[in-house]
Amino acid sequence: MELVIASNNKNKVREIREILNGKFSAIYSLSDLGIRCEAEESATTFLGNALIKARAVSSYTDKAVLADDSGLSVRALGGAPGVYSARFAGEKATDEENNALLLQKLSQKKDRSASFLSTVVLLYPNGDYLVGEGEVKGEILEKEKGKGGFGYDPLFYSYELEKTFGEASEEEKNGVSHRARALENLLKQL
Ligand code: IMP
Repeated sequence: MELVIASNNKNKVREIREILNGKFSAIYSLSDLGIRCEAEESATTFLGNALIKARAVSSYTDKAVLADDSGLSVRALGGAPGVYSARFAGEKATDEENNALLLQKLSQKKDRSASFLSTVVLLYPNGDYLVGEGEVKGEILEKEKGKGGFGYDPLFYSYELEKTFGEASEEEKNGVSHRARALENLLKQL
């Protein structure tokens, strides 16, 4: 099966390609196929937004489409930023702005536990789809550690890796990440 990854986030595309390496006959990014598509993520759930992204891209191609919607869920913030992780500090917020706001909101909190969550959707050209979900647990440090990864990675201390995702190699992160787990869950259903 050939697959198109419905994401404009180069970091996500790189991770997904790495995790799915060898599992599909070809994996394309949007730029590989010259598809320009920016769907509005108007749903309030990861699944809802993943389906919006997958369906939007599906209208440009006959191939199966894979979309990931993911985010950080912080217990002391009632699960926020959740589906709003990318735009926590505003519509076009940078990773630095989002991380700064997260640290500010947690400055008086004792409980800094958090999870990264991912929902992936594989949408077939006939409209049928499969869903996979994944989670990785950890906590938010008081300052960034490491320069790897993207988004909240330098603040997210993984209990399993005993280091932040910013300090982890790509292989280490992909060994435990929410995205890898969601994709493994999806692959089991194929
Ligand atoms: P999405 O593109 O709408 O799914 O937004 C995902 C957002 O959640 C990203 O922009 C990051 O802020 C955050 N996020 C999701 N996965 C990760 C990850 O693996 N590392 C760091 N941040 C992540």
